[in-house]
Amino acid sequence: MMVRDIAELKVGDAVVHIDHGIGRYQGLTTIDTPEGGAEFLELEYKNGAKLFVPVANLHLISRYAGADPANAPLHTLGRGDWEKAKRKAAEEVRDTAVELLHLYALRQSRTGNAFTFSAKDYQAFAEGFPFEETPDQATAIAAVIHDMTTAKSMDRLVCGDVGFGKTEVALRAAFIAAMAGRQTAVLCPTTLLAEQHAATFRDRFADWPVTIAELSRFRTGKETTRTIEGLADGSVDIVIGTHKLLSEKVQFKNLGLIIIDEEHRFGVRQKEQLRRLRAEVDVLTLTATPIPRTLSMSLEGIRDFSVIATAPEKRLSVKTFVHAEEDGLIREAVLRELKRGGQVYFLHNEVETIENRRERLARLVPEARIVVAHGQMSERELERVMREFYQQRFNVLLCTTIIETGIDVPTANTIVIARADKFGLAQLHQLRGRVGRSHHQAYAYLLTPPDGAYTKDAQKRLEAIQSMEELGSGFYLAMHDLEIRGAGEVLGEHQSGEIAEVGFEIYNRMLMNAVKALKRGESIDPEAPLATTTEINLHAPALLPSSYVPDVARRLAVYKELASAEHRAEIESITEDLVDRYGKMPDAAARLAAIHNLRLKCEKAGIRKIDAGSSATVITFSPTTSVKPENLIRTLQSRKNARMAGPEKLRFEGGKEKPEDRLQFVSEVLADLMG
Ligand code: ADP
Repeated sequence: MMVRDIAELKVGDAVVHIDHGIGRYQGLTTIDTPEGGAEFLELEYKNGAKLFVPVANLHLISRYAGADPANAPLHTLGRGDWEKAKRKAAEEVRDTAVELLHLYALRQSRTGNAFTFSAKDYQAFAEGFPFEETPDQATAIAAVIHDMTTAKSMDRLVCGDVGFGKTEVALRAAFIAAMAGRQTAVLCPTTLLAEQHAATFRDRFADWPVTIAELSRFRTGKETTRTIEGLADGSVDIVIGTHKLLSEKVQFKNLGLIIIDEEHRFGVRQKEQLRRLRAEVDVLTLTATPIPRTLSMSLEGIRDFSVIATAPEKRLSVKTFVHAEEDGLIREAVLRELKRGGQVYFLHNEVETIENRRERLARLVPEARIVVAHGQMSERELERVMREFYQQRFNVLLCTTIIETGIDVPTANTIVIARADKFGLAQLHQLRGRVGRSHHQAYAYLLTPPDGAYTKDAQKRLEAIQSMEELGSGFYLAMHDLEIRGAGEVLGEHQSGEIAEVGFEIYNRMLMNAVKALKRGESIDPEAPLATTTEINLHAPALLPSSYVPDVARRLAVYKELASAEHRAEIESITEDLVDRYGKMPDAAARLAAIHNLRLKCEKAGIRKIDAGSSATVITFSPTTSVKPENLIRTLQSRKNARMAGPEKLRFEGGKEKPEDRLQFVSEVLADLMG
């Protein structure tokens, strides 16, 4: 789990972390010895210092996911900055864990509405959906129905890429609430999204006695007053709106369900207001930000997730071209779309020069009706522009990345991205997702500087995005880039900073530990946030010799599996596989497996380090060790060569010559200590 992806690490651009800090991966290094050589993972730190990690200790390493690798906060070996970053993150984790568990306890103690509904009516409503549900969609809908019909109140997050059909899940939930006579509030981050959702809801509920209202700046004062009255007296069943919905003035007669679209886009204050509301009702949150699977595991039971990972069928993938910028190409791309009555996004991500770009574009394609949108315009102005583009008064939207998460414009099916080399993979994926949301063939043109001056990394990204034309594939590829944002979505935005400092994996491990500890009623020690991994040094080769498993990638994969094993049985099955494929294990390989068995025991006992050499054996406890003092005292009394070397170190003088004997000795001592 921790070392997933080690096998995918690429020399030079991969950043990993270990308990010593964040460094750059330099490859596998083998040093030959008569016993089969020692194999190390080589890491380089900021000050050029190198760290060689024996492959037996690969479990100490995980891939760093935080800032992009080029900007990762590398550490200087031997200075305290890593410790500091870790401690800060640990404090943050503790607060988060406490808050999460508090929410969880609240939810458990509270009984929500157990909605009841007529299966026949529901069937009829479902039939109004003009498509076959995708399997993921169906599963998400079933989960929502289950949540709503049981007494436990719902807090479910539905994650799925843009255009994967999350809205239908929301519609079904709103239907069930409405049939039970309860109101639904649909909260959208922008006025335009609210308008778009309102249109969809009106369509789907057209044949039902359900009143739908909209609450946003696009409505007149009179309409707004009427909606507010309707919500208070219960004559409005479903309201769709922006944060205006959260104002004190809005009172509901019998609110039963809140649907939140893209929660991360709401401000802190709005989220607080939302929290007040949500304590009492079922909540369904929709998001296009992928939630890291590892995180969702650690939050198991605290928040519920449904993932829609597959695109609806018949959706055409976006045809993607990577090309040096060229007037002829731009003109052709834009005209081609305009000629079939469609619209074009032209991305130019620099506000200072966007006007210049507009003039050039107007000269190049005089047929185009161009409108400009960027983040320095007022919100109102932006909305007006987007709306007019949506209504097709313009056919080219020249814009910055503000369209990244915006409204759906089904008639816009070409996107031209200037300086595409400057964008990250996740961002390119999201931008391209703006087109291709209907059954028309969509096109994306990723333009690079005409002089070919862009980095190798950028070229790799562009190749990657071009190769992942298949819908949905990007959802997984973009995962790493988006892990932080995804975590922010679940845990709250302010955590993102801490997460970037230590990397997602470590943060997640800390959080998982903290949640577990709190659930057991223990307190959390920010000084020892990660006490459960154990470093074991036998001073003897513990590896898969290249003569045994010749393929490097295969070796790494096995190292990774061993390091991620959490049970003895997993290690056994890995070694059985090895014997099946490669024959009897050489000593060094058997030792590697034995070390991992030992690691499992140590992690349980709260032992941080074992150093077993030929002249002494030292066992280092973590501050939160579960070894009982009386067992320790007994061990000290029964073994004459044992003494404490500092508060956390148990030292045995005089070691055995053979590594196998040392292993045996350590196992015996551990058995004593664990009682
Ligand atoms: P999201 O909210 O996930 O971004 P939407 O729910 O708006 O996506 O769906 C995008 C488009 O796909 C809509 O036009 C919708 O009608 C259509 N759609 C949704 N589910 C399916 C499906 N199962 N099969 C075909 N088209 C679908």
